Amino acid sequence: MTIFVDMDEVIADAYMAHIDIYNQEFNANLQLKDCFGKEAWQCVPVEHQQSIKLHTHRVGFFKDLKVIPDSQEVLRELSQKHEVFIASAAMEFPQSLREKSDWLDEFFPFIPWQKRILCGDKFILKGDLLIDDRSKNLKNFDGRTIMFTSPHNTNTTDFERADTWKDIADKLL
Ligand SMILES: [Mg+2]
Repeated sequence: MTIFVDMDEVIADAYMAHIDIYNQEFNANLQLKDCFGKEAWQCVPVEHQQSIKLHTHRVGFFKDLKVIPDSQEVLRELSQKHEVFIASAAMEFPQSLREKSDWLDEFFPFIPWQKRILCGDKFILKGDLLIDDRSKNLKNFDGRTIMFTSPHNTNTTDFERADTWKDIADKLL
C-alpha cells in the first residue's frame, strides 16, 4: 500500500506552536480548548490576527515544531510494512523546505529523502491512502482518506477520522 502522510498538524504540532508563540508575545492565555472549529488566528482579537498569520513565514518556525505524540513509533512500524511517503505542501512557505528536511532528519530519520515529497498542490498524489488534517487535500484524493484531528477541523464530518496516532495504529497495523 502507498501511504501519504502530511506534516503540519499530523506529525508536527504547528497549531500548538501558534498558541505558544502568541501567548508568549502578547502575554496571553489562549488555550487549545478555546480553538475548536477555528484556525488559531480566528481565536484572537482582530488586531492580533495578522501576527499569527505571519508565524509560518518566520525563519525557524518549522524547525522548532514538536512531534505529535506516537507518530514516530507508528510511522516507523507502518513504513516497515508499506510504502510510506511524507507529503507536505511546503512550497507555500519556501523557507520551510530546509527546515522541514532537517526536522525530518532529526525526528523521522527512518524516512529517507526518497520518501519525502515537499510539494505544491496535493491533487498530484496518486496512491492508496492520504492522512491529512485539511479537507482541501483530502477531498481531491482518489484513494482512502483519513482526517487527522486538529483543533481547526473538529467540526468536519466528511471524512474517516483519527484523533491520535494510536487510532491510526488501530486502523492500519
Ligand atoms: Mg497539515
